[in-house]
Amino acid sequence: MSRKDRCSICERETDQGLYLLKIYICEACESEIKDTPADDPKYVHFVKKMAEAQKSMIPS
Ligand SMILES: [Zn+2]
Repeated sequence: MSRKDRCSICERETDQGLYLLKIYICEACESEIKDTPADDPKYVHFVKKMAEAQKSMIPS
């Protein structure tokens, strides 16, 4: 049994993902993050998306 979740980065629904710090990330984004150096502007985008996803999980 598999459940589809929405990726916090690309917002695609997939069951081929994993939870990273309680944030769901699809396989494609996970490998992209791994291949992106920390000083790449793209990496900042990933981190921002993850921070936003984490923030939205905290009930206000
Ligand atoms: Zn993704």
